[in-house]
Order: sequence, then C-alpha cells, then structure tokens
Amino acid sequence: MKVPFTFKKSFEFWYYCKLLYENYLLLLNFLLMHELSIAMNIVEIACEQAKINNLSAIDEIEIEVGELSGVEIDALKFVMEIAKKETILENSRTIFTLIPGLARCLICSKEFVTDSFFSQCPECKRFNFQIIQGQELRVKSLNVF
Ligand SMILES: [Zn+2]
Repeated sequence: MKVPFTFKKSFEFWYYCKLLYENYLLLLNFLLMHELSIAMNIVEIACEQAKINNLSAIDEIEIEVGELSGVEIDALKFVMEIAKKETILENSRTIFTLIPGLARCLICSKEFVTDSFFSQCPECKRFNFQIIQGQELRVKSLNVF
C-alpha cells in the first residue's frame, strides 16, 4: 500500500519535532549538570574555607564568572540555590560578578574587549590574539555580617 504523500510528510514533521524536543531536553540536562557540578565545587570550597576560619554561618558569597569561562551564569544562579541546600551557605546571598573578556593582539599588542574566541583585532584585523581576562571562575569572598 502506498502511503499518501501528505501523511508521510506530516509524519516526518512530527518525528523531527520529537527528535528535536528529546535532544533539547538532553542538551538542557547536560548544561545543567555541567553548572551543577561547578556549583557543588564552589559550595565545597566555601565550606572548607568556613571550617578553616571557624565560621558557623556565611551571610554572603561573592563569585566572579568570566564571560569566556564557558559557564552559563543564569544556569549557575539557578543550580547554586540547589547546591547550597543543607550546607553552611543555605541562607546566604550569592552575588555574581561578570568579568568581561579581554584579549591582547599578538601582532600589534592592541588590547580589546571580546566575547568570543574567534574575534578580529580592531586595529590590524588579524585573528591572532591571547585571552588575558574573562576565563576565570572563582569565589571572590565569603562575607559574615
Ligand atoms: Zn592587532
């Protein structure tokens, strides 16, 4: 039996929609897992530091995230709240500071702001540069008021 053309096309359409949706969830899950492991690492560092300094609670944690660090800041904000549960950080406030990407051209030494690894030097138009800022991800401070 020959499948009508329109039916086949619409079946394919929904099939691709389903594929796209499933992969979207997979990708979303993967991204959150990446950020969650980072958040858990941050919490671990903070807890260690609190222990060293004999702190029983932390009111505020400051985190610096480089624009070129590969960390999705909104995802990190979301998972930080999960990672903080039942730790010394549970009731603390998290402050995120975004560090802009900065590059130095290896040809003409011009320094310029960039948000990608594939930028062009605004001065000599070459693509040969070194990232000098924006790849960092660190706990800047733990504050107790
Ligand atoms: Zn240049």
